[in-house]
Amino acid sequence: MNQEIWSAYSMTEPQGGSDPDLFKTHAVRDGEEWVINGEKWFTSAGRAADILFVMCTNGIFIVPRTTPGVEIMDVPSTHNHIRYTDVRVPLDHLLGPEDGAKVLAQRRLGGGRIHHAMRTIAQCKRAFDMMCERALSRESHGKVIADHQMVQQAIADSYVEIQQLRLMVLWTAWTIDNSSTQAARTQIAACKFTCAKVLRDVSYRAMHMLGSLGTTNLTPLQAMWAGAPTMSVADGVDELHKVTVARNVLKGYKPHDGLWPTEYYPAKREAARKKFADVLATEPELATYADRAARFAAR
Ligand SMILES: Cc1cc2nc3c(=O)[nH]c(=O)nc-3n(C[C@H](O)[C@H](O)[C@H](O)COP(=O)(O)OP(=O)(O)OC[C@H]3O[C@@H](n4cnc5c(N)ncnc54)[C@H](O)[C@@H]3O)c2cc1C
Repeated sequence: MNQEIWSAYSMTEPQGGSDPDLFKTHAVRDGEEWVINGEKWFTSAGRAADILFVMCTNGIFIVPRTTPGVEIMDVPSTHNHIRYTDVRVPLDHLLGPEDGAKVLAQRRLGGGRIHHAMRTIAQCKRAFDMMCERALSRESHGKVIADHQMVQQAIADSYVEIQQLRLMVLWTAWTIDNSSTQAARTQIAACKFTCAKVLRDVSYRAMHMLGSLGTTNLTPLQAMWAGAPTMSVADGVDELHKVTVARNVLKGYKPHDGLWPTEYYPAKREAARKKFADVLATEPELATYADRAARFAAR
């Protein structure tokens, strides 16, 4: 927190990122030490870090970067490929419980994911500001392009998408503050894949509105647009977050009884008739109205 030392998170492996069951890096206890062997990939800023949080199949371990056996490859230069060969750390360098790697990883990644979404909102707003400024500044076919309806549509869609994302992130942050990242897991996953989509769409529209200038690297837009695919992959690919959302949302539902969906009108009408049979028997006018409504609906 004081920025006195830097850390990096070493989880992904060359043979598999989305599926932790494919990870092979493992620690074996040897007397008063753990001995770690494995290979990691895309450890952001691993080269610059003082300590590495290394996710093993049996726990997360704190490894000082200068420990013998830590070998950082030349490429990729920023998100590092690291080999851990017979890396020895004291027993107390196990973070959390043994075999608790997946739970700890989810806790750490949850906070990181909502921060991605927060930063993305700022980028989207910047792209949006550039889009609006351009719309009011550029003329085509006798008027400023802001007066062309398709330009207005791009602005309106972008405005709404950014506001929706902003409100979803605020709601998620509020949930985290008032409970935990675990309780907000569905919301965090939703923020993560939505922020990538909004960044892609808004930065593309802004680039498009800047015409030829938008296609150059003379404005921030190209970098923003190129950043969208990264946002769809880093800290979990979109597909996995969508699975999380769908699975958790479906926990609040159950299959309907019998043949028909709950909202199937004929079945609902029949049930209502049964429920209010006494009332219909004593109020002929109401019964006539109900019959007429049923005949009208059956047409
Ligand atoms: C900029 C950046 C920084 C990163 N920093 C770190 C870091 O600091 N530490 C770290 O450990 N890792 C880091 N990563 C790695 C990141 O966590 C992985 O890239 C991510 O988990 C995906 O793994 P993968 O790249 O192996 O893709 P894969 O798992 O090979 O997935 C490739 C594609 O396969 C498809 N796919 C995979 N699984 C499914 C599924 N279940 N259902 C449907 N489709 C699927 C998707 O289309 C997916 O995009 C970083 C990545 C990036 C881009």
